Amino acid sequence: RTLAELDARVTKCRACPRLVDWRESVAHDKRASFAGEPYWGRPVASLGDPEAWLGIIGLAPAAHGGNRTGRMFTGDRSGDWIHAALYRAGMNSQPDSTVAGDGLVMSGARTIAPVHCAPPDNKPTPGERHACAGWLRRELQLIPTLEVLIALGGIAWQATLSGVRAMGWDVPRPQPRFGHGAEAVLTRPDGVPVRLLGSYHPSQQNTFTGRLTTEMLDAVFARAKEIHQV
Ligand code: SF4
Repeated sequence: RTLAELDARVTKCRACPRLVDWRESVAHDKRASFAGEPYWGRPVASLGDPEAWLGIIGLAPAAHGGNRTGRMFTGDRSGDWIHAALYRAGMNSQPDSTVAGDGLVMSGARTIAPVHCAPPDNKPTPGERHACAGWLRRELQLIPTLEVLIALGGIAWQATLSGVRAMGWDVPRPQPRFGHGAEAVLTRPDGVPVRLLGSYHPSQQNTFTGRLTTEMLDAVFARAKEIHQV
């Protein structure tokens, strides 16, 4: 199976009844607010370079962001932060992405969510996170070029550690703790190391309060590039 086939398959998933209902009802109710634009309202596939060395793991698409555009971490303010940081790091062709087909090209990076459907209040349940974990594992298996993963927030950090452990990767013990700037070395079964970096999630709660600044986010991307270039 290829990554493109996986992306196509995930958009048809209906495993989580609450999220199926939410993503579709949001799309139905809000479509009129975005007149002229199609409203995706389905699971959102990961976005970016299929041969990425950097994977950016967030939480889930936003109800009016990825759930609207159909592209992971676009169309909302958190996504704007991520794509602006990728542009500053020289990995995006443009600093923002507002609609599908706007010409965005991502080089070396891929935005990945451990939950592919927009959840109410941006909070997937543990059961929904568990249901979607298989998609994350399959995706990571299909990107052997990955060298660095950036986990945006504690849930992404935990989902990444659980996912790779289930794939037989070696995870340090005791389990590495999440923090902004935290680092852990994960080792694939073939012995290849993949570095996990922690960053606070660019939610409005974090960016409005200054808990996460552009400088702090840029520093994590700079560290990722440093690892890549060694
Ligand atoms: Fe399927 Fe994941 Fe969406 Fe649940 S969250 S319906 S497992 S794609």
